[in-house]
Amino acid sequence: MTQQSEIQRPLPALTELNRPFWTAGADGVLRMQRCAACGRLVHPPALRCPYDHALLEYVDLSGRGRVESWTVNRHPWFPGFPPPYLVAFVSPVEDTRVRLLTNLVNVDPDEVTPNMPVQVVFERREDGDDVVYIPLFEPERQ
Ligand SMILES: [Zn+2]
Repeated sequence: MTQQSEIQRPLPALTELNRPFWTAGADGVLRMQRCAACGRLVHPPALRCPYDHALLEYVDLSGRGRVESWTVNRHPWFPGFPPPYLVAFVSPVEDTRVRLLTNLVNVDPDEVTPNMPVQVVFERREDGDDVVYIPLFEPERQ
């Protein structure tokens, strides 16, 4: 696979709503919205809980998760983001009902297994005046 430092992933469009998610890596933490009423994590960022319409607040998570599913992309969809790369759904250990669409890094595709423990790593990228921290996941270190 291509060295991570050479990869230019497409960057997210920051909004007032999603900025805490995309910039939390500056503090070294994975931060997601949690419903103040039902306690569920909510992702992608939303104005209200999709289950009970209560208010959401950003909370710090451990950054640990489990691989729910994955695929190896072999098609060159984006310039500067050469295949092959692993696209995965990762569920944070704090709430396995929610999932993040992400990339798995620092792992051979043949070594990925269902429910594999992973931990977040951030890719720091500058985008104009913004600094974005893209949450990626690698196998959890023992
Ligand atoms: Zn709720």
